[in-house]
Amino acid sequence: MSQLIEFYDTTLRDGTQAENFNLSVDDKIRITQQLDKLGIDFVEGGWPGSNPQAVEYFEKMKGVELKHAKLSAFGATRHFQNPPDKDPNLKALLAAKTPAVTIFGKSWDIHVHEALRIELEDNLQLIEDSLAFLRPHVKHLIYDAEHFFDGFKNNREYCLATLAQAVKGGAETLALCDTNGGTLPHEIPAIIERVKEFLKELGSAVKVGIHPHNDSETGVANALMGVSLGVRQVQGTINGYGERCGNANLTSIIPAVVFKMGMEAEVGKNIDKLYSVSRFVNELANLPHNRYQPYVGESAFAHKGGIHVSAVQRNPRTYEHIEPEK
Ligand SMILES: [Zn+2]
Repeated sequence: MSQLIEFYDTTLRDGTQAENFNLSVDDKIRITQQLDKLGIDFVEGGWPGSNPQAVEYFEKMKGVELKHAKLSAFGATRHFQNPPDKDPNLKALLAAKTPAVTIFGKSWDIHVHEALRIELEDNLQLIEDSLAFLRPHVKHLIYDAEHFFDGFKNNREYCLATLAQAVKGGAETLALCDTNGGTLPHEIPAIIERVKEFLKELGSAVKVGIHPHNDSETGVANALMGVSLGVRQVQGTINGYGERCGNANLTSIIPAVVFKMGMEAEVGKNIDKLYSVSRFVNELANLPHNRYQPYVGESAFAHKGGIHVSAVQRNPRTYEHIEPEK
């Protein structure tokens, strides 16, 4: 069945956590415009509560018109000590005046105890009331369930309870994050099936998304597995930039979803721009192109002499997984 898939790009926020990957505010604006032309559905511009450069970016973006992409500001659930309307982080998100806001919250009980140092119940409360506070002010409200897969493996009931709170708070999409990037593709189906079942029990039609990191080199595979299971939003970055070993690489996920899985997506209409957007991001970051990168690298459809060349000349399908012209 053909589903409409949303692509959520976080090159400008999660991507810039990568070592050596730096962009000026003006570069970020230029990249946003290219992502818009490519047909990316959501562009996450930064974390205004933690980063003055992000505030400047959102301020300047108020004067930039996008034809398709919705700009998203990113932040955390409120601090435990602050009521939502006094929380500087939540206030900074609203000041960005974006059509979309994404906040992350803790799904993994260990993080609630060790990082937030609060009770499990308190974390449930702040997920719900942070979202509920934002809800009337933003068109698209996305909840990033941080460490979701690890949390699920450690304490599934609690992890699912955090999603229930996000639904109560009014989230439109629940993005399941593999924040440490340790999850392998074969683990994904049972977890996502359980999430779908749980949401059905709740009677919720909330969208499910996935946000994989690439520490096990399975970011793309995990995203595609998610799509095959009915996930409707994929979060990733151009060329896979991101902290440590990077995020799920959208330049590989997009063609797979569009050409091979037959899903509908706005990017499907402009996919011929994928190559130039991939290069544009590298150029602005002053980083070399990876010639071996699937789909967009120079070597992706190169053939070096001998039997492959003559076979490809006779029939390209012999040694090419898709038509390079696409
Ligand atoms: Zn991330």
